Amino acid sequence: MTDTTTRLLIIGPPGAGKGTQAAQIAQRYGVPAISTGDIFRANIKGGTPLGQQVQAIIERGELVPDTLTNEIVADRLTQPDAAPGFLLDGYPRNVEQVHALDNMIEGDSLDAVVLLEVDTDAVVSRLLKRAELEGRADDTEEVIRHRQHIYAEQTAPLVELFSERGILVAVDGLGTVEEVAERIATGLDSLLTSKAGR
Ligand code: AMP
Repeated sequence: MTDTTTRLLIIGPPGAGKGTQAAQIAQRYGVPAISTGDIFRANIKGGTPLGQQVQAIIERGELVPDTLTNEIVADRLTQPDAAPGFLLDGYPRNVEQVHALDNMIEGDSLDAVVLLEVDTDAVVSRLLKRAELEGRADDTEEVIRHRQHIYAEQTAPLVELFSERGILVAVDGLGTVEEVAERIATGLDSLLTSKAGR
């Protein structure tokens, strides 16, 4: 049977512009954009038990425990809108979560991974600007630096793993939203077409 699903991930340091690009990619491939950060923030805002459980962790810029995060993603991926595939944003974030995702899904858990490459200083100033606009509690300079550190330590190593799987599309994240979106579309189309031909 041919696999007609499209399973994508966008990865990159906090502030690289993943959320903005995720919306565009999701629309292009007709799959839902699923952001664990958005799910957590919605629960915090709604004052749900999950929100209460994760609020302090997120405000410190730490990672929510894997078991909890994995459970939430597993549940989200069984929703009917994810049947044609999905675009994950912010998950998996460490090796344990990659293994959990691999176990959630039969066959290849991901078809392509977009890496948004940006300079760290540019990212910090972008996040400080977002802090002013959106007032996110985890956008103070100290927490931003901590989140960058966690990214470098736990998430960046995944890039090599996805590269070894032959599914990595590395894109320069500097430029206008449209320019970056264009680069992503070109890279993704080319990888997905070559995979489909195999
Ligand atoms: P994000 O919007 O992706 O930057 O996520 C905001 C915050 O939510 C992170 O700093 C973490 O505290 C938490 N979070 C989001 N995704 C994950 C994940 N996959 N694993 C653990 N914590 C997460």
